[in-house]
Amino acid sequence: MTGRAYLVGSGPGGPGLLTMRAREVIDGADVILYDQLPGEEIIATLPEGAELIDCGKYGGSHTLKQHEIEALMVERAKAGKTVVRLKGGDPFLFGRGGEELEVLRAHGIPVEVVPGVTSAIAVPGMVGIPVTHRRYASEVTFITGHEDPTKPESALNWEVLARLKGTLVILMGVKNLPAITAALIEHGKDPGTPVAIIERGLRPDQRVTVGTIADIAEKARATGVRPPAVIVIGGVVNLYDEGSLPG
Ligand code: SAH
Repeated sequence: MTGRAYLVGSGPGGPGLLTMRAREVIDGADVILYDQLPGEEIIATLPEGAELIDCGKYGGSHTLKQHEIEALMVERAKAGKTVVRLKGGDPFLFGRGGEELEVLRAHGIPVEVVPGVTSAIAVPGMVGIPVTHRRYASEVTFITGHEDPTKPESALNWEVLARLKGTLVILMGVKNLPAITAALIEHGKDPGTPVAIIERGLRPDQRVTVGTIADIAEKARATGVRPPAVIVIGGVVNLYDEGSLPG
């Protein structure tokens, strides 16, 4: 008897943005494989009766590799369990949820996707930055900053990205921020374009750093910006509201 699997987005952090469907499937799970990104507040509410597998710290300290996570999901579901894979934000935006879906399907395991509120929109939104706005941006591009733009094998086309008039939202971009801003300037993006970095969005220790493409990398270095953070580039950053508080 095969069980079921759920690919669940937790939202960007904090129980308020977890969907009702996510809560329901979490509470009905036999096994929950979770990342740290959902945040302590949500992790603390995972049902005690379920087998809880911390994919960031497994069997002591070692981080589960992607293929190990997939193998555990398949193995538990084939044993008839109801398996929840809990990921930050939405499971299908830079979360490797697509790969997990493929593996589960290949093993004939029924899967339900429970979309989540993505940090890419919600984290800027909570500090008053709309990713689109009729006056500033009629398009928005979401990219991973995980790739070093100076590497020739980068899958991103920085020439095209620098030409786009809309908003650029970068996830996982803290480490490569100096290379990213340099690549944009090199390809002709206005160095005065506003940039906001929102660290630990919707958490009690949320912090926002604002600047321009020309100076944000230095500001981020000086203030010790660390992941997780959402980086927003474009005129919409002018709407940033310092009075906004984390939910
Ligand atoms: N699937 C997730 C993104 C996974 S990639 C989503 O839809 O939100 C991980 C990246 O997401 C982090 O490096 C960071 O860029 C961003 N992120 C997720 N939650 C965040 C939060 N609460 N505050 C700031 N950045 C966050």
